[in-house]
Parts: sequence; structure tokens; C-alpha cells
Amino acid sequence: MPLIDETRALLQAAAEQIVPLDPSEAVSSLRRVLDALANRYYVDDDPLVPDAEYDSLLAWLRTLEMRFPETRSDDSPTVRVGGPPRPGFEKVRHVEPMLSLGNAFSTAELAAWVDRCRKGLGLEEHDPLDVTCELKIDGVAIALTYEGGRLTRAATRGDGTTGENVTDNVRTIRSVPLRIPRSGEAGIAVPTRLEVRGEVYMLRSRFDALNERLAAAGEKTIANPRNGAAGSLRQLDPRITASRPLSFFAYSLGPVEGERPASQAEALRWLRALGFPVNPVTRLVSGIEGMNEFCEQWGARRDTLDYEIDGVVVKVDDFERQARLGFVSNAPRWAVAYKFPAREATTVLEDIVVNVGRTGVIKPEAVLRPVPISGVTVSQATLHNEDYIRSRDIRVGDTVVVKRAGDVIPAVIGPVPEARTGAERPWVMPTHCPSCGHPLERLEGEADTYCVASDCPAQFVRLVEHFVSRDAMDIEGFGSRLAAQLAAEGLVRSVPDIYRLDPDRLTSLEGFAGRKAENLLSAIEASRHRTLSRLLFGLGIRHVGKTTAEALVRAASSLPQLLELDEERLASVDGVGPVIARSVFEWGRHPENRLLVAELGAVGVNVHRLPEETPVEGSGRATGRTFVVTGTLATMSRGEAEARIKAAGGRVSSSVSARTDFVVAGESPGSKLDKARELGVDVLDETGFLSLLGEVRTP
Ligand code: NAD
Repeated sequence: MPLIDETRALLQAAAEQIVPLDPSEAVSSLRRVLDALANRYYVDDDPLVPDAEYDSLLAWLRTLEMRFPETRSDDSPTVRVGGPPRPGFEKVRHVEPMLSLGNAFSTAELAAWVDRCRKGLGLEEHDPLDVTCELKIDGVAIALTYEGGRLTRAATRGDGTTGENVTDNVRTIRSVPLRIPRSGEAGIAVPTRLEVRGEVYMLRSRFDALNERLAAAGEKTIANPRNGAAGSLRQLDPRITASRPLSFFAYSLGPVEGERPASQAEALRWLRALGFPVNPVTRLVSGIEGMNEFCEQWGARRDTLDYEIDGVVVKVDDFERQARLGFVSNAPRWAVAYKFPAREATTVLEDIVVNVGRTGVIKPEAVLRPVPISGVTVSQATLHNEDYIRSRDIRVGDTVVVKRAGDVIPAVIGPVPEARTGAERPWVMPTHCPSCGHPLERLEGEADTYCVASDCPAQFVRLVEHFVSRDAMDIEGFGSRLAAQLAAEGLVRSVPDIYRLDPDRLTSLEGFAGRKAENLLSAIEASRHRTLSRLLFGLGIRHVGKTTAEALVRAASSLPQLLELDEERLASVDGVGPVIARSVFEWGRHPENRLLVAELGAVGVNVHRLPEETPVEGSGRATGRTFVVTGTLATMSRGEAEARIKAAGGRVSSSVSARTDFVVAGESPGSKLDKARELGVDVLDETGFLSLLGEVRTP
């Protein structure tokens, strides 16, 4: 039976909680499958199944080994670390083994870990136990050896005892220091020989760009940033590694010859002082509440980061206490990885249908065999566009990996080709609009296909849905079903018709007797007084999102006035670029759009800027100061940094001049940083920036 089927069968058996008649047989088949999956993951950097599926089989094996101790074995996947070194690399024996981490999948398991530590250390109830909480970066572990201040060796974890010598590859990673200060140079004692451990990872934005590049060159795309990092680091040709966008965070110390810090929090500060990039999101806490809060906060915010995290690593802070707690076979007792709920699963792609968006864009959508992902049953997912499907060779009938992240619509990540039976069929984009039958168009250089018919009913329904949605005119009780129903009945043929609904006709609609119609009409009535930015967003002008709409209304006091502005004036608004300016300008040139605006005013919808939208100089920490953000920040995207500056009353500019007050520099900052230095402009690193905004997050 192919590996993928075997995995499924075992998961199925686990899900149905079939107690195996023969435990030793169940244990040996689980081990065989887990070994093969680990090989694909660690050696080939090309996993066959999502991590949660692997973890679930591993948990099952652990349970069986615990219940039937006679089945335990030294070479079981439950006691081993990683995989063997890949042939072609020189093997490196670690002076101190590089271990895995024990997992906690719930706050209860986290609390149980704290109890074990407290007991192990003989602490009384009132004795404090300080722990550090760090983000668990989803990349590849690496050990860097520095001798006499120079990087002399970089090794992967391998099987924990023996790794691969990847020094030449690691030298190409710009954030890995090739030289660190010698003792005395940085005003601190630096050991003659030390090993720094950390994670090599790939920024999400760079990973997407890399995949686009690979797809354009007709090469195989990479499933996720972790595989991207692992595969790039373990190239036999360092030139390929050099062309891959890899980053690095240091998070712990290996063997050190000389003086060393006394705690994890101190070690992180020390590493930062030596010039290593250290993740600024780290917190030293002493109670379970602090730990839980950190885990919960970052579980919810993980998508705001430009790198993948799969959990939080909690470590007993004091090194002397760590030494007293020691290790189990493959992991330290003094640390635990709290894992966020899984967001990926595999299921069958039963069909691909297309949806018409409000701008006429045709979006292929996956019809999936329903699968639970982080507490929600997913049966539909986006497939983005035709190129996405083609470059990943996604076929109808395929077993596919589906990801559900935060509020984002679930997406099909890619197929599992190994699971193919031969019955799968490639998909082709329809040639005509499924709603109005008009021929579809795809413009040169664009990834999306459009229905360009101006009277396409599906597009109109989408526009109405968008207009009444929560972030736009926020009309309660007005959902997609109603939008379609009102359009089909001919009661709403244009957006202003929403405000002309006849109560009698509404009550006569199916399911609209009595209170429901009344409630809807009063919700519609209330929406006449929404802010101008909500109305502008609701009009569904291409490229005008919520934030852009808020920016645009700063430039004009009413909708008609805004539509009179020329492109140049529009583009000069903070947060509005030439593409948006052109789109707004062109929208305003269409006679039917002008009529729409006039009609909205005539039916009593507010088209003027409200007092709360009128720009006032803020009194925040950045008030009156001009910032330029450059490079990649570790804890937020550049857009988020800019939004925070504006929220604190500051201005954002895209170029450095003598009038710039601060340059916020992340990783790979480029020429703007040079310019700032040249002009003597203050440069803030991320920690400095956060502390200016009053949000210090360092240990
Ligand atoms: P792990 O990934 O759960 O934890 C240990 C690793 O965490 C360390 O080696 C280090 O690289 C990393 N880490 C990140 N940030 C850290 C920080 N701040 N401090 C310390 N360490 C940090 O354990 P593992 O043994 O590397 O691997 C298990 C993982 O691999 C699981 O998630 C498992 O699902 C996955 N896996 C998946 C498959 C598959 O087929 N999909 C197969 C094998 C393993």
C-alpha cells in the first residue's frame, strides 16, 4: 500500500479509536510509516502530509508505547530527533546534542509542564519560577561555531548527534554575522570559542516572490517557507543558497569556552549585543497567566508577522535550574513547545467551480470533501486564479493540502501527487461567464480573468453584498441571500434602489412577514448617516480598500468634490499611490457612476465628510514627526508599521530627506539607511521604534 494510503488508514483507525488486537503489529506499522514520513520531511525537505497528521500518528504511537511497555524501543520515532544527514555533505558531530522539544497542545498541558518543573526543582508554592516565552520560528535549526570572533562552522541538527556541515551555505545569509566582536571590543567579555544556536527561516513575502520566480521559470514550486528554508540551506551548490532569501534569528547558546550569561533572558540580550539578530518578541514571565497570555496573544497575531511561527517555546530562565532539570531521551525537561492549533489538513478536491466577483473577476473555487481544520469544517477554498492552478498542477479528484489561516478564506496549497490514482483530471478555465454568458477576457500581463459585461447580474449582486457589508454601510440583516433575492425579484436594480424599497413589496417576499421587514427597513434607514469613508469603500472602486478610503476622504469634504480631484492631487494623498489615484479618477469619469453618486445624495444617503473624519493633528507619541520605514521588520509588516506611525500622529514618507525625523530600519534596509546616515537622520531599529511608540517587548 502506498505510504499516503497507509498514513490515512492509520489515522482513520486512530480517529475511530480501534484498539488494536495486536499492539506490536500496530506499533511496528506506525513506526514504519512515521520513519518514512520523517525521511521525506527531514532528509528530502518535501513532506508528504501536514505536520498535524504526522503529530497525530506520533501521539498515537506514544500512547501505545506507554500502555504496552514491552513494545518500547531505542530507535522509535518517539525517542529520536530529526533525520540522518543527507549524503553529499560532510558530517559534523555536535559537541552537545541538538535536541527536539516536548510539546504542549493546550494550556492544561502547559500547566502540567510547569508543575513538573516546579516539582523537579523542589519549589514551594510561593517560590517564583521565571520562564522566557519566545516565538517558535518555523524554520531549520542551525549551530554556528565562532572561534577567535570568526564564524568557522555552521551545522544542521541532523539526527541530533550528527549534522551536516553547511558552512559555505550559511556564509551567504546576510543576517548571520561572519565576525563578532573580540573580547573588550563591545565592552563585554566574549568567549574565545562559542556556539550560537538559532533558526534559519524564510520571510513569507520573500517566499511568495521566490515561488513566483520558480513558477515563471517552469520549476517546481515550494510548499511552505519551512521547506523553502530547509531546502535552500541544504543545497550542495552554495550559489543556489546565495540566491535564496534566507534570514536568521539566534535563540540559544551551545557550548561556550569562557564566561557565559546566567539566564536565557540575559543570553538573548548578550547575543544581541554581539551583533546577532534576536527576535524582539520575547517575554520573561513568572506566572502561568503571563505564559498563557503570551501564547494566546501570538496565536491570534501570528498572521501579522512576515514569518511563520507554529507555537511558543517556553524555557525555564535560570541556567543553573535548567542544568538541575536536565533531559529526557530526546528533549530538555526545562523547555516545552506550546503548539498552536493546526491550520492545514488534506482532503479530496471534488470539483472546481467559478465565482463572479463584484469587479467581474472570475475566481476558481475548490469544492472539497468536508474536513475539520482548527475547529471549523471546511468544504470550500479559494484557488486564486488560473495560473495558480496550472503552476501547481492541481487536478480535480486530487488529494490536496488545505490551509485555513486566521480570518483569511481557506486556500488550497497544492496537491499530493503521490496520492494520485490516475482518475484525476486537469481543469480548464471556462470561456464564458457562468452568470451572463458573456465571453470572458484575460488581459495580457494579468493573472485574473474577467467578465466585462456591464449588466452581469452576478457582479451586481456582489456589489450589493459589498455595499451593505459590515465594513461598508453595515446594514444589519442584509446578507448575500437577500441581495440575490432582491436582485432576482427586480426590487433592487441599482444601489440607490436599496433606499427606495417599497415596504409592501418587501413584506410580500418569501420569509419577510412582519418584524423582519420592519427591522431591515430601519437598518437601511440608519445606514443613510454612515461616514463618507464607509460609503466610498462600499462603492467597490477597484483598489479602494477600507484604509485607502479613510485616507482619500482626508483630501475632500464630499464625494462629489473627491471625484473632481485630478489624478495628481489624488496620488499626493498619504497612503494613496498612482494606481489607486488612477482607478478613482477613472471611476469618477464614468457617467453611470456620476449618476449613481447623484442618486445616492437624492435618496438621502450622506455624501459629506463627517466631523469625526476631519483630519486633526494627533497628540500621539509620533505627533508631527516624519518617518521612513525601510527593510524587513521582524514583528510586523511595513504597512503595519506605517499604520502605527499614523495612529500615533506621525507622518510617513517614502524617501529620506533632511526633513525626515526618523528612519526605522529592519533587515536588509538598502540605500535609505545609507542616505539617513549621510544626512544625520536618527535611525531606529525595531526595538527602538517599538519603545518610541511605547510598546517595549524585549526580555
Ligand atoms: P519541533 O519543531 O517541534 O521543535 C524543536 C525545534 O524548534 C528546534 O530544533 C528549533 O529548530 C525550533 N525552534 C524555533 N524557535 C525556537 C526557539 N525560540 N527556541 C528553541 N527552539 C526553537 O521539533 P522537531 O523535533 O524539530 O520536529 C517536529 C516537528 O516536525 C513537528 O512539528 C512535526 O509535525 C514535524 N514533522 C513533520 C513531518 C511531516 O511529515 N509533515 C515529519 C516529521 C516531522
